[in-house]
Amino acid sequence: MSKQKPSYDAARIEASRQAVWEQRGDFEAPQPAAGQARVYIKPSSPFTSGNLHMGHVRDYAIGDSYARFRRARGDAVLLGFGFDAFGLPAELAAIERQEPPADWVAECGERMLGQMKRLGFSFDYDRVFYSSDESQYRWSQWLFLTLLEAGLIYREDATVDWCDTCHTTLASIQVEDGRCWRCHNEVRLIRRPTWFLRITPYLEENDRNTERLRNWDDLALSTQRYILGRSDGAEVDLEGDGGRSLTVFSPHPGALAQARFVLLSPRHPDVETWTEGAGVREDLERMRSGGWERSARDARSVPIVDTGASIAGPAGGELPVFVSPLVDARYGPTAALGIPAVDEADAQLGERMERVPAEPESEEDGEKPPSPPVPGAREAKRYRANDFSISRQRSWGTPIPVVHCEACGAVPVPLDDLPVVLPRDIAPTGEGNPLAERPDFVDVACPGCGAAAKRETDTLDCHFDALWLWVPAAVPPEDRSELMFEHPDLQQWLPSERLVAGGDSGGFVFDQRIVTKALRDIGPFAFLEDGEPFAGCLFHEMVIADGRKMSKHLGNVVNPDELVERYGADTVRLAVLYAAGPAKTLNWSDGALRFANRFLRNLWTYSHDRFAALEGTRHDEEAAADTEFMRDRLRKWCDNGLARITDDVEQLQMHKAVRNITRLFERIQDFEKRVVKRRGQLDRADAEAQIAALALLARALAPFAPHAAEELLLGVDGAEGSALPARWPDSAAIPVAAEAPAATP
Ligand SMILES: [Zn+2]
Ligand SMILES: [Zn+2]
Repeated sequence: MSKQKPSYDAARIEASRQAVWEQRGDFEAPQPAAGQARVYIKPSSPFTSGNLHMGHVRDYAIGDSYARFRRARGDAVLLGFGFDAFGLPAELAAIERQEPPADWVAECGERMLGQMKRLGFSFDYDRVFYSSDESQYRWSQWLFLTLLEAGLIYREDATVDWCDTCHTTLASIQVEDGRCWRCHNEVRLIRRPTWFLRITPYLEENDRNTERLRNWDDLALSTQRYILGRSDGAEVDLEGDGGRSLTVFSPHPGALAQARFVLLSPRHPDVETWTEGAGVREDLERMRSGGWERSARDARSVPIVDTGASIAGPAGGELPVFVSPLVDARYGPTAALGIPAVDEADAQLGERMERVPAEPESEEDGEKPPSPPVPGAREAKRYRANDFSISRQRSWGTPIPVVHCEACGAVPVPLDDLPVVLPRDIAPTGEGNPLAERPDFVDVACPGCGAAAKRETDTLDCHFDALWLWVPAAVPPEDRSELMFEHPDLQQWLPSERLVAGGDSGGFVFDQRIVTKALRDIGPFAFLEDGEPFAGCLFHEMVIADGRKMSKHLGNVVNPDELVERYGADTVRLAVLYAAGPAKTLNWSDGALRFANRFLRNLWTYSHDRFAALEGTRHDEEAAADTEFMRDRLRKWCDNGLARITDDVEQLQMHKAVRNITRLFERIQDFEKRVVKRRGQLDRADAEAQIAALALLARALAPFAPHAAEELLLGVDGAEGSALPARWPDSAAIPVAAEAPAATP
């Protein structure tokens, strides 16, 4: 045993441990051995703009402690990491700073990686990627072309905000009170061709699978159900004049006969045939370009177009047909029955429609006559989730690999010509479309006929890049420019054993699940039979301060760098894990920080005092026999504590694990107090048992406060300390028997 009692110096300990880890190559994803469990843990991919904030620290502290736990159990672990580097946050920051987004992203990425390393997060840093790298976005382009060929991407007019002064389309966050963020001119809505991702063919399978997902926590599952937006009810076929018909849905299967009108989605496939009346098409166009996608979803204010047409109701009579985006907001792009008698939103709509007769006053609380059954009605369901646009008029994004030719139309770029390279030196000003103004980018020969043609100048929304952000980490970096979706390593790492992501990632995850199914059917992911990218999923809530979202404006931003500087990485990690369970919003307070720091200091000092005292502790057989039952109790405490901690970590309930670790430390101290009370001092057998318990505690602490824990284990000579990185203990190997203390040197 070392006789020195080193003080707890987090900065020194953490620097020395991190150097050792790097030298040992602890974080490199191994080539899994036969029969070894393969665990790919996918943390969230941050936007590459600004610094690492406390929300990231929370995400990565959970994922990293789980990764360290699985490694310690002997599993092959890939803790992958990549940046969601394209997109508006970086572009806006670059406009403000008047530098190319590529430079800004490079700066931010370096800084964030430095912060992550300082916190001791055990990512395989050799596998880090940026979605804005050519070797990455060429595969976003491959995915676009592959989905286009499969009919899952299509082009259609959509409504976007446009600023006449800046000659540019605007993202919704660039519109403030109807005015341009840059020039404060009033913006208007225009219709322009936009690329869409078709997700509807896979909604039903996403729905079915949601019931079968194991190791998904409630928060993650509930976001999947919410995004899917399933309504159960009934549908019935209705006949109109001129051979027109409609299948209409209602979530009120018992009240179909009370329908008073029919509501069509403006995206219903047959909407054109119902809007042929004089002036109706104009009304529909006005509604479409009137910003219905941004308008209130409220039934009192949502736009409605009266088609003037009627259709035979399910219980006789004629029902007027209207068009309104309220259908989309409730049931997706379908047709629905309006039943004011049983549906509040329908009642509010009905009051606004001249052709809908007022409902008779219902007799107060009287028994309503049962609604007669409707012939032909059948059980049905609808999903609110719908296709969404994937293209943006921005210059910091994956170029869409399409060429527009006057003769051939929109021509996909041949796969062999990928990547379509984004010029790196563009410094957007917020005015115009910088890509469209670059002849070296725009002017190109048509891949079909060879005539002069123009490149598509829209780029892919970074949501599209995110569809496959969980893939690259599983492919060795040196192979990525040649092979991605068909790399053989994917079969050993996918599906990801666990996704750890913020509670607002549900939309990303939902669409990643859709695209996995598409790639399964197309071929590359055929080995993922259920089309699920994540076998397990943990969503965590955000980190706030003073009960409010952190913002510069409020002056309540907690800077992780300052905390690490002052307390050390282990304290910050432990505090962020301990302060709240993942499903709860973490209201940051220094209390958790002080608690974690005090615990680490106490454990450190206490352990080193015991290590140092062992040498002078004598053995006496009679004394050892007298306290044998106490050592046995210590062993049981350790066994029970370890079982609880193991359980907690397996379920990624790190706050419980940390609490149980602190409790076990209390037990170990309690053991000593009781022995001293009984005998006046520890026998060597007691001291050895206690040190074995402290070593066990350090090993259980290692996933959460890895630097301090490993340095503590170094203080325990012998087998416990020598094998690093430490294994997760199977059971508490606490020496109990009175006869067997090690010989006094
Ligand atoms: Zn403007
Ligand atoms: Zn052509």
